[in-house]
Amino acid sequence: MSSNRSIAIIGAGPVGALMSIFLARRGFEVTLFERRPDMRTVDLPAGRSINLALANRGINALDRLGLMDDVDELLIPMRGRMIHGLDGALQLQPYGNKPTEVIYSVSRAALNMILLKTAEAEGVIINFNQRCDHIDFKNKRLTVFDEGAQQEQSIGIERVIGADGGGSVVRTAIAGQRKGAVDEQRLGHGYKELTIPPGPDGAFQLEKNALHIWPRGGFMLIALPNIDGGFTATLFLPNEGPQSFAALRTEAQVAAFFDTHFADAVPLIENLTGGFFDNPIGMLGTIRCDRWHHGGDALIMGDAAHAIVPFHGQGMNAGFEDCVALDLCLDELGDDWHGVFAAFEKRQKPNANAIADMALENYVEMRDSVLDAKFRLKKEIAWKLEALYPDHFIPRYSMVMFHRLPYSEAYARGEIQAQILDELARTARTADDIDMELAKQLIEKRILPDSV
Ligand SMILES: Cc1cc2nc3c(=O)[nH]c(=O)nc-3n(C[C@H](O)[C@H](O)[C@H](O)COP(=O)(O)OP(=O)(O)OC[C@H]3O[C@@H](n4cnc5c(N)ncnc54)[C@H](O)[C@@H]3O)c2cc1C
Repeated sequence: MSSNRSIAIIGAGPVGALMSIFLARRGFEVTLFERRPDMRTVDLPAGRSINLALANRGINALDRLGLMDDVDELLIPMRGRMIHGLDGALQLQPYGNKPTEVIYSVSRAALNMILLKTAEAEGVIINFNQRCDHIDFKNKRLTVFDEGAQQEQSIGIERVIGADGGGSVVRTAIAGQRKGAVDEQRLGHGYKELTIPPGPDGAFQLEKNALHIWPRGGFMLIALPNIDGGFTATLFLPNEGPQSFAALRTEAQVAAFFDTHFADAVPLIENLTGGFFDNPIGMLGTIRCDRWHHGGDALIMGDAAHAIVPFHGQGMNAGFEDCVALDLCLDELGDDWHGVFAAFEKRQKPNANAIADMALENYVEMRDSVLDAKFRLKKEIAWKLEALYPDHFIPRYSMVMFHRLPYSEAYARGEIQAQILDELARTARTADDIDMELAKQLIEKRILPDSV
């Protein structure tokens, strides 16, 4: 497969599959290598990130390829966070200020399957059960292990894109070329998925159009709706310590833990204690690396370049935004692959670092701050300011989820806005109490109008 128009992509997850479509539409010969079997033909392993939140950035990428008509039927709008108090009291905290400001729960596998089907229809060759083990940049060859035949083969390539997720082999190969630094920070918390099945006649057992959160300070349970009427619940918990996965060793301990902290969820969860021990504990962490490409020969994108913790619901969205960014770099720089890859890295790396930080901060917000009266007051003030000064003041969550200004800009603007909110909320008890003249001065002096 070595012609000047050929590209190998390692990993047929959401990002690799989507990128393959962008490239195939440009007329490139694209070959995907995926270590797993074709997910359209085998059962998926239990307990692995069944659904996720799709937001504006991801939708924009799908829209550019005309895929939203197909994806639309998989989506369930979530208008806000439904907070479950310890006493079972419910409180809906809307995500945005406008009816259109919602995020969507989507089955990760169903979305991936649409992308694989579209990729094949565009002429992409997908090799399943093929694990890339090594890249020889000098001789332009991939070493690929065929999981079916249990055989290794060497394949000639022109260039390679690594969309091979958090454990990326391509990232390691690129870093190995010039001793690039790869920083991997484990969160110290893991996650475990559980199932809330549909009720009688397929009814949703919780409010359908919300992301449910049971915030408990140092840990939390969340649940996202599925189109079959069920929910996928995910417990996020420290790995070690008094309240941790390590401390939950017996069925009785798990039952007592859930009864104490998530009593209203207990009757809804299918086979709670059995599911708890059957499903794996997923690890969470942040990966940042300084080299995203090797000349014009290799590039990494998606989780391979910037795995982040899942608390802003942006990992896949950010990866889809990478696909758009690479497509735009190809528009600008044509076949100058070194230039294209370098421009991509320059454009996306600061954004990846910014969303990584915001995702970590959002864990504290989700598991803790949402319960805080001051946090809620600031949110109200932020919406009031957004309504009055829509070109200047956009709440940070909205900038990330409902707008497309670069993450790095959202982060920087968010910092300034947070200071303004601190100042205005200091003496206010409701959003109506704030000093509007001071608000106007602070905003006009400190925030430039939104250019996006
Ligand atoms: C609990 C949880 C919740 C999440 N929620 C959200 C959310 O709400 N919204 C959101 O946007 N994101 C979310 N994410 C993040 C999202 O899942 C990832 O960002 C996204 O899957 C990244 O896609 P990717 O294609 O880059 O990598 P992956 O999904 O990891 O895909 C990589 C692919 O490469 C293959 N592969 C790996 N190594 C090799 C190899 N050597 N050879 C061949 N193939 C290989 C793998 O089998 C896989 O198919 C969540 C993640 C977790 C863990």
